[in-house]
Amino acid sequence: MSLITTPAVLLRSYPYGETSRILRFLTEDLGVVGTMARGVRREDSKRGSSLDTFGDGILAMHFKENRDLQTYRGFSVRRARPALGTHLLRLGGAALLAEIILVHTLEEGNPELYRRFLLALDEVAEGEDQLLRARILAGAWSVVGALGFGPSIGRCVACGRGLGAEEIGRFDCEAGGVRCAGCGREELPRVGPVARSHLFALVAGSAPEELRGARAHLQLLAGFIHSHLAPARTLRSLPLVQAQFGAEDV
Ligand SMILES: [Zn+2]
Repeated sequence: MSLITTPAVLLRSYPYGETSRILRFLTEDLGVVGTMARGVRREDSKRGSSLDTFGDGILAMHFKENRDLQTYRGFSVRRARPALGTHLLRLGGAALLAEIILVHTLEEGNPELYRRFLLALDEVAEGEDQLLRARILAGAWSVVGALGFGPSIGRCVACGRGLGAEEIGRFDCEAGGVRCAGCGREELPRVGPVARSHLFALVAGSAPEELRGARAHLQLLAGFIHSHLAPARTLRSLPLVQAQFGAEDV
């Protein structure tokens, strides 16, 4: 067992027993790591604060290969992102980003994922209200891509043909992206040229200013995650995000 320090962001925190917590971090060096933080709730009540979920900083722990929970030694927060707690959609968006990483049990360092995840958290915490939905979608797709599951958008997943500029495709979550007009099936959602160009932007991690059909985009994302990352699970944070995306098609 050795004492390790690594850049990390706190994804989730559960109370354990009277005074302890189980803390799940995304670390830059070791992927997702669960730690047991004994006595940490007693310290919280003394300091009058609790550990900040979605904060990032330097995690110290005693680490041993192949055990479920490592021994937490401390977390020095560099950036706490309190703005996430001020708005349900910001909080729900951050929880969705974290859950995408948690359902895909990542066991190795992925610095690109770490970088994209922190960037997405910042944008969801501090982005302008009117771009918030697009920022959540962009952050989520960017994280999905960094995990190695980016969708195919420009070429048909069935026949491999590039889609024409005006062509209406269909999005096939299970097959991993867009089908051309010829291979499309009617029960699949339509993705025309505008939806495809917005998807290109979102997958590259950028939020289109004039995103149309945010709810439909959220459905595509959810279906894709369900098919490729979490087939046996439902995303617990999704209903909150869906409700906050609003009934109107913005
Ligand atoms: Zn095709």
